[in-house]
Amino acid sequence: MSDAELLRELARRRLAKGTMDLDSIESTAEEAQRDFGEETLAAAIEALPPEDGRPVPCPKCGRPAAVKARNRVRHILTTAGELRLSRNYHYCQHCEHGFAPRDAALKLPEEGEVSTAMERRILDFGVNDTFESVAERWSIHFPTRISSNLVRRVVDRAGALCEAPLSEENLQVAARPRPEEPASMLTVATDGSMLLTREDGWREAKVGVVARGGCFPPGVERARRRIEDARYVAVLGGQQEFKKSLAAALAAERADEVETVVWLGDGAAENWTLARELCPFAIQVLDVPHAAHWAMECGKALLGEGHCLQRHWDARVHQLLDADGPDTIISELMECLSLTETDEHLAALDTVIGYYRTNAARMQYRSLRVRGMPVGSGIVESAHRHVLQVRMKRAGQRWSLQRARRMVRLRAVYRTAGAVHFHQALRDGRVRPPARARHVLVPNAPRRVKQRQRSLSRVSPLNRAWLASN
Ligand SMILES: [Zn+2]
Repeated sequence: MSDAELLRELARRRLAKGTMDLDSIESTAEEAQRDFGEETLAAAIEALPPEDGRPVPCPKCGRPAAVKARNRVRHILTTAGELRLSRNYHYCQHCEHGFAPRDAALKLPEEGEVSTAMERRILDFGVNDTFESVAERWSIHFPTRISSNLVRRVVDRAGALCEAPLSEENLQVAARPRPEEPASMLTVATDGSMLLTREDGWREAKVGVVARGGCFPPGVERARRRIEDARYVAVLGGQQEFKKSLAAALAAERADEVETVVWLGDGAAENWTLARELCPFAIQVLDVPHAAHWAMECGKALLGEGHCLQRHWDARVHQLLDADGPDTIISELMECLSLTETDEHLAALDTVIGYYRTNAARMQYRSLRVRGMPVGSGIVESAHRHVLQVRMKRAGQRWSLQRARRMVRLRAVYRTAGAVHFHQALRDGRVRPPARARHVLVPNAPRRVKQRQRSLSRVSPLNRAWLASN
């Protein structure tokens, strides 16, 4: 009997027992798949050649390591059911390292209780939904049941890899390949977002976006800039940690060869320090919504909350900001000095004027707009939502610091790589990167210097103007 004939006969026998609606046919087919899968799994494991019990080289030092225990059992949850694997356990006296050669031969994950294929599925659910909800939803999709604790463990292990990768740049490249040619333009934007932790109350998670894209004429920018073309960085930690991660994303994007880099920020001094250190050639831009926000706050203070003239004030603010530099808006604000009656009024004016003077060189909005460059940091604000908030700021959520640190990083990799490539990116990101060619290929060095000089000569006029004025 051929395989096909056998399957037909089996199906006939299964269906002969019950009614014949599509629901029951479908579940019969699923049942058959499951039984078939479990049997195939068991048969394949039984068919493995027996282990001979001789010492094998230790994976760490290469010295022979003898068997310490025979038939040690490991349970692995696979997509085809539970696998009970008994195999020899070896121990290296020199390294004090125990291992099972069969696990390596089967390419099982070193740790944990799930197969690689299961891990991929659990992670896909676990970075998108709460652990409890994943365990519940799982049973709709798959016949095996899993607990919320299993989801938590799988996500924690993956998160630990992201938190301390061998190389952050390598993880970035694994998530999104390095461009063959550097983009003509990059937009970099950074911002902070608060997360509620158990140990420490609200803590700031820093998010950075490095987006490819050319210049677009005014008006079409919003529609054309796509978040799919972006790398994300997210860190629950200090500025140095954030800087390191952002540097890796910029290196993966070949930022030092890009003609025009626009760095958008909200005016916080540490932001510009970061820009100067990581991308000294970038055009720094004070994000327009933040620039307008402070003038509108000043209007509220002068007019009083809810005043009927506020909307005219706001419209005038936007009108005056659409210029090269804040000189006009500053002089109109100065004219309001005669209207000030209290110290609060004076302080409100002083704040916004000081803010504009500090950032004057970063407010060349008209020229930037004409050239189709971004002036608003909408990409990083939407990044807060789709990188962090959708998973980490649900009602009642409070995170342990360690788990939050890991999830923040996992989410950034997830959004950079996309759902389909996410798991493979995590695995590829674990490989230690080869030494970068430019450090070892000495004969090529002069050519590379020339390339670098050429790329500097390509700096756009606007960039040059920015560099000259600073
Ligand atoms: Zn050893």
